[in-house]
Amino acid sequence: MIAKSMESYVKGSSAIRAMFEEGGRLAKIYGKENVYDFSLGNPNVEPPEEIRQSIIDILQSEEPTFVHGYMNNAGYEDVRNAIAQHLNKQHGTQYTERNILMTAGAAGGLNVILKTLIDPEDEVIVFAPYFGEYRSYAANYGAELVVIPPNLPTFQPDLKKLAESITAKTKALIINSPNNPTGVIYSEETIKKIAEILTEKEKEFAADIYVISDEPYRELVYDGAVVPYIPQYYKNTVIGYSYSKSLSLPGERIGYLVMPDELSDFDDIVSGATTANRILGFVNAPSIMQRAVARCINSSVNIDVYNKNREALYNGLIEMGYECAKPEGAFYLFVKSPIEDEAEFCDMAKEHRVLIVPGSSFACPGYVRMAYCVSYDTITGALPQMQEVMNEIKS
Ligand code: PLP
Repeated sequence: MIAKSMESYVKGSSAIRAMFEEGGRLAKIYGKENVYDFSLGNPNVEPPEEIRQSIIDILQSEEPTFVHGYMNNAGYEDVRNAIAQHLNKQHGTQYTERNILMTAGAAGGLNVILKTLIDPEDEVIVFAPYFGEYRSYAANYGAELVVIPPNLPTFQPDLKKLAESITAKTKALIINSPNNPTGVIYSEETIKKIAEILTEKEKEFAADIYVISDEPYRELVYDGAVVPYIPQYYKNTVIGYSYSKSLSLPGERIGYLVMPDELSDFDDIVSGATTANRILGFVNAPSIMQRAVARCINSSVNIDVYNKNREALYNGLIEMGYECAKPEGAFYLFVKSPIEDEAEFCDMAKEHRVLIVPGSSFACPGYVRMAYCVSYDTITGALPQMQEVMNEIKS
């Protein structure tokens, strides 16, 4: 018999995965090309060629006992140093390998930093809509997830509610920008105000409140949009980064945490996170991938592919009368359901072989998410189907 606490996770896990599996079932009946699957944020753009070449070269030229061996739980020093130097160039920071901890993707990094910071009954604040896994990650360490309702229609966070929600138990605020599921980037003004509120509340409660900035989509931005670098505005910030989306490597489980020197209790947090990486069972991030990403530090995927999809899907849906904020980053469109019950709308779309995910999976009912990291043919094939769904709703 499994643990009682696990039963609810299994039950709630997960509308997105369920839809993805439904896609497989429909593909067997109708043919893969006739199923328009927007359910999962699994990149369809290939990783850069340098990744493949690097892996081959690492295996051919580096010492096997080194490449496949245990290492510092924080990761290879040279890799962490290469990432630190790269960030220094981008942000004018002064990081060294001490500030970087290699992780099993963003999911691994978030679990490591939560394990490091959270005592049972601490509160972790998130802005809805949010990546649904945060709820499980917070619960892993006994934290109470405090959800700030969505601020429609811009999806910039509701700062008044943030100020009201902070208590003596607040330990962290998770920020995700560019955002999954909306594609919205939190503006510099928003980040400045968040920093002001947190600084004030830290004083009021004489306690540290940490921002955990979950940034797997940092590089996936369009029309020259800028993503504010939060440590420049708020000192108690830890960044969780991932190569899952930026280099299309989600199965490889590779990312890192940035822990700036300015953090309160910097030394303890670094030691805590390094230990957490080990005792959560990761031990260290996958070794070949660490070495590969360090060699490909300036590589990127071709985001023109996502941009073309974004324009076609957004413009197509708007013309049909759907409502949605134009995403500035990531590869998701968050569309207002034209009928009240968005689950019913998802079912209608499914009847037309278009797979989309209800907003309630992101604590934002009344909306649906479409992940447009798909082929262009999927977009052009889905649009007439979405028109038919709209026609049915209007008739
Ligand atoms: N955070 C957000 C906002 C995500 O969208 C995802 C994946 O979709 C993750 C974290 C987990 O990413 P990773 O594959 O790096 O663990």
